[in-house]
Amino acid sequence: MVLDHRSAFRASVLLACVIMCGNVLCPVAAYLYSNRYAGDQVFRITPSNDEEVRVLKKILGHMKVDFWQPNSATLICQNATVDVHVKRNDTRGLHARLKQEHIDYRVFISNLQKEIEKQTGYRSSRKRRSESQYDYEVYHSLEEIQSWMFEMNRTHTDLVDMFSIGKSYEGKPLYVLQIGKRSRHQKKAVWIDCGVHAREWIGPAFCQWFVKEAINSYHYDSVMRRLLNQLNFYVMPVFNVDGYDFSWTTDRFWRKTRSKNHKFHCRGVDANRNWKVKWCEEGASSHPCDDTYCGPFPESEPEVKAVAKFLRKYKKRVKAYISIHAYAQMLLYPYSYKYATIPNFHCVESAAHNAVTALYSAYGVRYRYGPASTTLYVSSGSSIDWAYRNGIPYAFAFELRDTGHFGFLLPESLISPTCTETTRAVKAIASGLLKKCETDRDKFPYI
Ligand SMILES: [Zn+2]
Repeated sequence: MVLDHRSAFRASVLLACVIMCGNVLCPVAAYLYSNRYAGDQVFRITPSNDEEVRVLKKILGHMKVDFWQPNSATLICQNATVDVHVKRNDTRGLHARLKQEHIDYRVFISNLQKEIEKQTGYRSSRKRRSESQYDYEVYHSLEEIQSWMFEMNRTHTDLVDMFSIGKSYEGKPLYVLQIGKRSRHQKKAVWIDCGVHAREWIGPAFCQWFVKEAINSYHYDSVMRRLLNQLNFYVMPVFNVDGYDFSWTTDRFWRKTRSKNHKFHCRGVDANRNWKVKWCEEGASSHPCDDTYCGPFPESEPEVKAVAKFLRKYKKRVKAYISIHAYAQMLLYPYSYKYATIPNFHCVESAAHNAVTALYSAYGVRYRYGPASTTLYVSSGSSIDWAYRNGIPYAFAFELRDTGHFGFLLPESLISPTCTETTRAVKAIASGLLKKCETDRDKFPYI
């Protein structure tokens, strides 16, 4: 490799920094994201009547806050908590307005910068790459996740296959791992995607954990062995590769797709509003600045288009579609875009019940479950509705831990329990596919 002067200089500066900092915290690198979240707060606000809902929508609309829960001002409703990340210059004003209007609220993160640095345990002070053993209990960069995928593919040829289903908006490959024993027969399959929304870092951590668990337990866990013998899992650890990378390097709370060369909010698309089912109707926004922006047209995002194409191609085999999100502790199934009961409700409901029961059995963590529209809120253009419409009888979206104490900043110490319990839930759903459920034989598509 030939180094020009500039990169040689950069390499030597980097080397100097490594030598100087070693294992202690380097003062230059002490703040992640250039300390941009110092003094920012996360408010939990609970409007108790229609008037308070109206006033709150108005206040938050003016302030341009970063919505954590729900995803936009239009989804605010009575007695449902609203979690918003407020820039430091706006916090004082918001405290005053809420007090003045007598709206119930509390601050659950009083200094966001500190919380971010706690979550990742001061990234700069850790030796992430030098360990030969991959650490599943820390969050990883996109680059690390992709190298890990290559490594799994290289070292577990009997159970793992890796392929790319396309390229992202910025040209990054979209990798998928196929897990399971090869067979001459057409095996049933389960699709699992993680990291549709960039800032939900526990998602990609789960996908990696699940793959590790599946491969390791194949030799001693008869349930997992049966699953891998009879099914294939298609696991996509990072769906929204551009967004994830951007949330890692630049804007920790970025939700949408894409990243480069843009003013912060008015680029990118909500990859879970971009699917071709009641596209851009209720619960989605046609405004490019909004976090729930549905995009210029259905499947405008290459990531959505690639997954849709793959699922269309394998829809005869894929019996379950599972999408991993955070946070709320919920297991959701169709419909998302309307209040109605799906035709195979009894089969899906009982699968969801078994999943949350299995999840609870690990650490006693409770999940709510039900149709997305009534359990969370109505949103059009979501992937579970699309999967269901396209003939996948079991379509689920998980909202992992927690219920708002850490929100998107779930600490690394909770990766292991969160992923352990969720693995049980996914195993329960997959095991259910090996049994018959009567109403499944109804004609598709159901929508
Ligand atoms: Zn999400």
